[in-house]
Amino acid sequence: MPKIRFGAILGMPEENEAHREFAHALGIPLTGSGSASGRRRRRPSRRRQGGDGSHEKKGLSGTLESRGLTEPYIDYKLHDWVFDRQRFWGVPIPMVECEDCGSVAVPEDQLPVKLPEVDQLKDVNDGENPLSGFDEWIAVDCPACKKPARRCVDTMPDWIGSCWGHLRCLDPGYANAIAQPNHLQRWTPANLCVGGIEHAELHLMYVRFVSHFLADIGVTPRQEPYRRLFNQGRIRSQESELGSEEEVSRRGPRVIASEYLDRYGADALRLHLLFMGPPQDHAEWSDEGLKGCARFLQRTHEAIRGRIGQGKFVSRNVLVAKHRLIRRVSRAIRTYRLNKAVSAFMEFVKLLRSDEFSPEEVDKQTLKTFTILLAPFAPHMAHELWDQLGESGELTAEAWPEHSDELLQPTEVELAVFVNDSLVDRMTVELEATKNQVIDQALELSSVRNRTGGRSADRVIHVPDRLLKLVFASAEGETGESKDDVASNEEPFFDPKA
Ligand SMILES: [Zn+2]
Repeated sequence: MPKIRFGAILGMPEENEAHREFAHALGIPLTGSGSASGRRRRRPSRRRQGGDGSHEKKGLSGTLESRGLTEPYIDYKLHDWVFDRQRFWGVPIPMVECEDCGSVAVPEDQLPVKLPEVDQLKDVNDGENPLSGFDEWIAVDCPACKKPARRCVDTMPDWIGSCWGHLRCLDPGYANAIAQPNHLQRWTPANLCVGGIEHAELHLMYVRFVSHFLADIGVTPRQEPYRRLFNQGRIRSQESELGSEEEVSRRGPRVIASEYLDRYGADALRLHLLFMGPPQDHAEWSDEGLKGCARFLQRTHEAIRGRIGQGKFVSRNVLVAKHRLIRRVSRAIRTYRLNKAVSAFMEFVKLLRSDEFSPEEVDKQTLKTFTILLAPFAPHMAHELWDQLGESGELTAEAWPEHSDELLQPTEVELAVFVNDSLVDRMTVELEATKNQVIDQALELSSVRNRTGGRSADRVIHVPDRLLKLVFASAEGETGESKDDVASNEEPFFDPKA
């Protein structure tokens, strides 16, 4: 039997001479689904006929099993992995090795096992755990038979904590279990896990294993740790050649965040990272972008401070701008487009710094709302501003602002104004303006008057929200008609937005 080794699970006797001989030798009947020429006839599968396919598989493996040709075997992709580490640090594995009893777990009332307090590590043989030199720590009575036994000297890998740390965060002070049952019930699984694609291979497998294990032994109510996984992109750098040679060749040049932290602060660095683009995309590192964010924070500080104590009321303009900011930032967080939130802050600060908002019309509540929204993005700056605003309450305890949809409905619209076929102007009209009001407003425009001498139009084409076209007949005699009689909503023959 050439080319068939262990692991072959399915032969097609109709397809292959060798398989056919094999089937004959073992008395496996041919089902006749193919011809001798090797061409297989198409037959609708059971799945297509409405079955779920599982009993077909069961039938096939069932037949083979009943003949003693195969036996069921489940093969997991996740094989055993090395868990113990020969390190002097890490979480000790709470097991005791007893000559009579074998491996015995340390009883719960003796947990946690703590590492020995030592000043100096002892020399040990190559490959042995550095802790194996501390006999006093290692010597312990077997929890089962009480005879002298030895502690397991190895420690757990560093990533084990990240497999259940999110559960402990729910209730870090609780002594009797990983967390109180109502917390676990309410908060698990986590809505979102953020990690690079490299986590799909390692962390995700470990955390799911641990999570299933904890659920299986009844410690937690849910098997899956997360509802959703978000893979953020990588930040790459062409200009920076930092990092060891090995690191550079393995992952490309790196950017050392700590150096930028010292120079520009955590807020600027965080803001820059968020502003680089959608978080799922890879991005190129740029020092210039970081400097820009640092400058923006500086301007923000000046703009807010400059307006403290100036505001006397809040104008509709400011209110609309504030609610638009709330909506944009909230939506950016919800949709994970955090770069758009940073853009929204930048536009708002630009308004604050411009003459568009007078000192009187920006009230304190607007500045407070801005600061609350900024807090997750630039917490240090936000807390500083909160303090400057004279607020004594906890900034992070403030409720997240909500926008008013009603306020953000547009009340005005811009129309393109045509005289015959020429675009002569643009004008802003109230959304609720009637057609005649719109026409009157257009006729008042100096750009229109210059061309028409104040005449009434012979014909008017009004496409609400888009354009107004005043048509003047060239012949003098046709100008006497009232605009009201001829005004129409017919489609224009030229669409400026097409
Ligand atoms: Zn024992």
